[in-house]
Amino acid sequence: MAFTVALDGPAASGKGTIAKAVAAHFGYAHLDTGLLYRAVGQRMLMGEDPIAAAESLLAEDLEYPDLRGAEAAQAASKVAVIPEVRTALLDFQRAFARRMGGAVLDGRDIGTVICPEAEAKLFITASDAARAGRRHKELTGNGHEISYDQVLADLKERDARDSERATAPLKPAEDAVEIDTSDMTIEQAVATAIAAVEARQA
Ligand code: C5P
Repeated sequence: MAFTVALDGPAASGKGTIAKAVAAHFGYAHLDTGLLYRAVGQRMLMGEDPIAAAESLLAEDLEYPDLRGAEAAQAASKVAVIPEVRTALLDFQRAFARRMGGAVLDGRDIGTVICPEAEAKLFITASDAARAGRRHKELTGNGHEISYDQVLADLKERDARDSERATAPLKPAEDAVEIDTSDMTIEQAVATAIAAVEARQA
């Protein structure tokens, strides 16, 4: 049976961590859709036309070592504005969402564009300070040299670009359950998300 969990929200809201834990809990497959845009952004940084890159994206592009860094993130949100890039990535994401056995996808437009028929839709938010603090810790922990202020500025710039774009902007689906993780531990956020999914399965 297909059962899709759509998890959307701004950068560093906790949706990636929640998505992995929810997928593991229910035994569903997980797709981090941000990685697709990061891979296209990375190929643009290496000199390619972003539309051509999106149309010829390979599984191995998702394994590029710096994909989770700040530069790839900014490049991702720039290519994500281009409608043809989004179209090129659509079929893969839709097929993944409706695969048998259940799927969790995290991104910006899963509940609104990729899979409006998703059985469970969650919109994960957190304050700017909470998100910047988490992302700063994650990046410096992975060996990236970047200041807290720079991380905060990058997040705000990316949020603005993601929310204001004409095609598939970041916004909650009308029927999404909103979860603010600012004052939650990871365990609390995961438990809240699992309970929301269970409520939709009932
Ligand atoms: O989630 P992550 O931070 O990895 O996403 C990187 C960028 O990719 C986002 O800032 C956004 O511009 C873009 N993106 C998107 N739609 C998605 C997932 C990511 O536009 N479903």
